[in-house]
Amino acid sequence: MAAFQFKWLWCNKCQGLAYAGYSAPGICPAGGRHDHTGSIRYFILHDAPEAFGQDNWRWCNKCQGLAYAGNSSLGPCPAGGIHDHSGSANYKLGLLNSWPPRSDYQDNWRWCNKCQGLAYAGNAYPGACPAGGEHDHNGSGDYALTTNMGSNAPNAQDNWQWCNKCQVLAYAGDSSPGACSAGGTHDHQGSADYALAHDLGATAPIYQDGWRWCNKCKGLVASAVGACSAGGTHDQPRSYNYGLYHDTPTHNNEQSNWRWCSKCQGLAYTINAVGPCPAGGAHDTSRSYNYRLDIWAT
Ligand SMILES: [Zn+2]
Ligand SMILES: [Zn+2]
Ligand SMILES: [Zn+2]
Ligand SMILES: [Zn+2]
Ligand SMILES: [Zn+2]
Repeated sequence: MAAFQFKWLWCNKCQGLAYAGYSAPGICPAGGRHDHTGSIRYFILHDAPEAFGQDNWRWCNKCQGLAYAGNSSLGPCPAGGIHDHSGSANYKLGLLNSWPPRSDYQDNWRWCNKCQGLAYAGNAYPGACPAGGEHDHNGSGDYALTTNMGSNAPNAQDNWQWCNKCQVLAYAGDSSPGACSAGGTHDHQGSADYALAHDLGATAPIYQDGWRWCNKCKGLVASAVGACSAGGTHDQPRSYNYGLYHDTPTHNNEQSNWRWCSKCQGLAYTINAVGPCPAGGAHDTSRSYNYRLDIWAT
């Protein structure tokens, strides 16, 4: 099924695009591991049946980079040997002017004819190439990467993610992930990219607004009176008024079985473990509606 994948980030050392959804970044041709500091988010289409775009771009499981796999050489890998694309989806990139950009995008991403990798060519330095020296973009088209899925949804905000330790939904676009009731900070590895509607002014019986973002634990909470994993109770002065749909049929790109915890006021995914609750013990979702969330990317 055609879908977008997120957690692809630019590396400020090698200028390459690399997958950052694992706990450690991949090996960088500039030495050490990729450094994604300063990157915006990129959404990459995969396994898409559309005729436009160029497919056969593949993820390398050794360096995490994206490289073109349609030539005779797969290209040298900074982790040693050549890139290894086993386990990769079939990614499809759009070329500027031949690709109807889905929404906001950034162009000037180029293929390197030495390493087959995709790297950003808009900075003064082309970046270290695993083939030696710098990337060489001769012969490349101008690739445009999607940077925002929400241009047609002004009342929606994405980058809400599930925490695999405490099960709650928390905003991942703030300066820190937020304190987790399981200890440390929330861990969003394995989460989809969820989008929430806000300030719709809708009053449908299946739509419930009044949900707020807590700027201490970064979670979505129904009320400030719940116990916060950052200590004390939730604090929500700068929040949108989010609304959730509940108890409706679930379509593609939607996920139900999210439930309100009456103890901490958070929203928790209830198919896995019940997760530790900041109020103590496990979340209590027995009195909740069955909420569903929109998935924009996985
Ligand atoms: Zn790098
Ligand atoms: Zn590689
Ligand atoms: Zn290169
Ligand atoms: Zn957590
Ligand atoms: Zn909180």
